[in-house]
Amino acid sequence: MKLKVLGSSSKGNSYLLVSSTGQTLAIEAGVRLNEVKQAIGFDTSNIVGCLVSHEHGDHAKYIDQFCGAAIDVFTSEGTANCFKAHHRLHLLQSGVQKTIGEFKILPFDVVHDASEPFGFLINHPESGNILFLTDTFYSEYTFPNLSNIILEVNYDLEILERNISTGRLSPSIRGRVITNHMSLQTAKELLSANDLSKVNNIILIHLSDGNSHAENFKKDIEVATGKTVTIADAGTEINLNKTPF
Ligand SMILES: [Zn+2]
Ligand SMILES: [Zn+2]
Repeated sequence: MKLKVLGSSSKGNSYLLVSSTGQTLAIEAGVRLNEVKQAIGFDTSNIVGCLVSHEHGDHAKYIDQFCGAAIDVFTSEGTANCFKAHHRLHLLQSGVQKTIGEFKILPFDVVHDASEPFGFLINHPESGNILFLTDTFYSEYTFPNLSNIILEVNYDLEILERNISTGRLSPSIRGRVITNHMSLQTAKELLSANDLSKVNNIILIHLSDGNSHAENFKKDIEVATGKTVTIADAGTEINLNKTPF
């Protein structure tokens, strides 16, 4: 199983899981479909579906393009209601598993200023359980048998406070960030609350431009977990197998 990152920031999110048979599960519709096509050699028939976590533009801006290209998009009812109805737009329910091609998807609620935002626990025989968690202030759940973790680490509280005290950021932004996005500190708590014994990769996504420090985040999570940590950037490509090889 390969993870291809096409975008991972407030400018646009798109992640592709490509299995050895070529089946592709897209996560988020925050970059143009053309970029997705380019990344998979222009054959969209391999895309079994696209999961969308919530309606914000950096995750969902191009839903119409995906539906229009006969790609099935799966999201919560609350998120779907923010878009024009389309027969390619399918509803997922929190806690109810859905099989999409070779992938089994378990959606769950997250905490974010959106209609009905979801995180996803994704299972595939090649990758084991992949946790996909973004745009959430924390998670009330822990997750069993994780092999790979794709996790938002948006900001470092210390950097955020510094940016506010030096006037780089308006204090009014503080409240929005800390009640809607995951801090480095919360991410470490979340990771320590879960059994990481079978985890091969932790991929950090959706880092804030001004309130994060990629290198330090990577080191910090590596030290806290002893795992292989990768910062997701457009163009990042890594193996997400059950075994580290
Ligand atoms: Zn976002
Ligand atoms: Zn959002």
